[in-house]
Amino acid sequence: MEEPVKVYIRVRPPNESEITSRDYKKCTDCNDQQTLNLAYPRDTIRPFHFDGVLNEQSTESEVYDLAAKGLIDYVMQGYNSTIFVYGQTGTGKTHTMGLLKKITPKAEGIIPSLLKDIYAKEKNTIITLSFLQIYMENVYDLLKPDKKPLQVREDPSGGIFVKDLTQVPVENFTQAANLVNAGLCNRIMGSHNANQTSSRSHIVLALEIEQGNVTSRLTLVDLAGSERVGSTSSSGLRLDEAKFINSSLSALGKVISALALESLSHIPYRDSKLTRLLQPFLNGRVVLIATVSPCYKYGGETLSTLQFASRCK
Ligand code: ADP
Ligand code: MG
Repeated sequence: MEEPVKVYIRVRPPNESEITSRDYKKCTDCNDQQTLNLAYPRDTIRPFHFDGVLNEQSTESEVYDLAAKGLIDYVMQGYNSTIFVYGQTGTGKTHTMGLLKKITPKAEGIIPSLLKDIYAKEKNTIITLSFLQIYMENVYDLLKPDKKPLQVREDPSGGIFVKDLTQVPVENFTQAANLVNAGLCNRIMGSHNANQTSSRSHIVLALEIEQGNVTSRLTLVDLAGSERVGSTSSSGLRLDEAKFINSSLSALGKVISALALESLSHIPYRDSKLTRLLQPFLNGRVVLIATVSPCYKYGGETLSTLQFASRCK
């Protein structure tokens, strides 16, 4: 049987200012398609092994083909699937998901490609879309511009749901793209400066796929930045945001590693809003794509991302 959890690493290319900087030094080396060598701290080389390593030259379609495309058939067969992008702010999570720009028919990245392929394939299927943001452990509906937090509820049979979350039936790619584009404009930005949009929150796009009596769900999650926030340089709000992010990412790590071990013991879904509201849907395939920078100056964050990703296996 296929393993329930797959973990991939994507290294982003260095940007213009990094490459031209006098002290530019690389700390990552992808010497095969499943190993990433990290030279940090100093020149200690540590190998990390994953289901796939995508190097600096990897294209959006390579990432999509390796990590996402195969989930469509699986979901169409009635099983749930979830993709998470995890990593330090600025390493390419939103880029990889394809949410940095408006979605158009030509757009690349995981979400636009999934939407295109799903609508090219679907037959007798009803697809319902919802889009939410979790900021400081509050859930906000991105398809409704008012900024009131929603409640996560449990019904008497133990089913977990977000009360009053907007769910829109979507018939084609254009309708889906329009909804996602509108939702992106409703994001709360957090304490970061404006060009690092919403790196302090988790963004969750869900496609519920109904065929006859069978309903399954494909969930795409752009996680908040995993970087550690120094207590000396940060204001109260920034520190509070960081505490919420740390605890929810650590809960997520525990949940994914329990799923990977197919552990039947206690899985701590209740430790964060994110894991709680995803609990009903994590019983199928789970893909984690961890994004890292190649730059030595971010080696500490890269090391902790690789360690997180390794624990998820
Ligand atoms: P994050 O969501 O992790 O904070 P972003 O997706 O916003 O990071 O990416 C930060 C910047 O790096 C953006 O300008 C983006 O265009 C660029 N970038 C990220 N990944 C890549 C990549 N694989 N190829 C080219 N540019 C990238
Ligand atoms: Mg982002």
